[in-house]
Amino acid sequence: MSRARKPDWLKMRPPSGQEFTDIRETLRDRNLHTVCEEANCPNLGECWSGGAGTGNGDGGTATFMLMGDRCSRACNFCDVQTGGMEPLDPDEPANVADAVAEIGLDYVVLTSVDRDDLPDQGASHFAETIREIKDRHPGILVEVLIPDFQGEERLVRKIVDADPDVIAHNVETVERLQFPVRDRRAGYDQSLSVLEQVDRESDIYTKTSVMLGHGEYDHEVYQTLADCRERGVDIVTLGQYLRPSRDHLEVQRYDPPDKYETWRRVAEEELGFLYCASGPMVRSSYKAGELFVDAVLREGKSVTEARADARRTQPRQTES
Ligand code: SF4
Repeated sequence: MSRARKPDWLKMRPPSGQEFTDIRETLRDRNLHTVCEEANCPNLGECWSGGAGTGNGDGGTATFMLMGDRCSRACNFCDVQTGGMEPLDPDEPANVADAVAEIGLDYVVLTSVDRDDLPDQGASHFAETIREIKDRHPGILVEVLIPDFQGEERLVRKIVDADPDVIAHNVETVERLQFPVRDRRAGYDQSLSVLEQVDRESDIYTKTSVMLGHGEYDHEVYQTLADCRERGVDIVTLGQYLRPSRDHLEVQRYDPPDKYETWRRVAEEELGFLYCASGPMVRSSYKAGELFVDAVLREGKSVTEARADARRTQPRQTES
């Protein structure tokens, strides 16, 4: 397939403003990382500047990336650095809990690099961070985007036992394209089994994300959504793959916004997902899903009401 040209609808707001500066300082002071920066997320400007209608007192927000800024894996779509991992920072759980207070978050998203190099792949450290936040900030909602822990149930259970409100794990793409899109240690069935285990062992919301633009066919996207739903996944996000650098996979296709709207209807109205955030600039830890969960868990709203709340926050593209 020929290299696709980047369309006009993919323009986002550059980072600016006091909230942005405050968040960056808070992170630097505590030696904390975010997937926002490490993966060069296009929504950083909007999220850190508080423009996303976050509900977090409308201040900015960020997704903390635990266990360092270097990953043990090398997925061909991801801009996070590979190899040369540092030992875990034992102060990280407390530092994250401090930063949560300083930024003023009432909904926090945690993710991490993969640490296949550690005996428990970092599962205990991740769980300790969840507990530290929950203990220090009663009433806060915690969403975690976890690695697959190589499908080891005892490690996934450490996260479940820490009782976050949402556990996300990304299948990333359709079964046929798992490799070369993802590192060879990742896998379609392995990722689905992680999500299914959480659903089987708890009432915690499960969530996953699918990137479009790697050459997948519509019937494969449909099958991926159906497989996730069959494994009990509640929330799904769909967004456009954007090439971080020439060292990463080329974009095969840019789907227009109305195609994403079609997938949203399929996911919610046909397949029965509780909520689907779907749009070219939607990322797995973008705000929309948060507002849905917030509305249901904190305000006790119905799924229909919560969807309407969340719908109002889809990423706004700047005029071309
Ligand atoms: S596991 Fe893959 S997607 Fe996740 S941080 Fe590592 S390289 Fe990136």
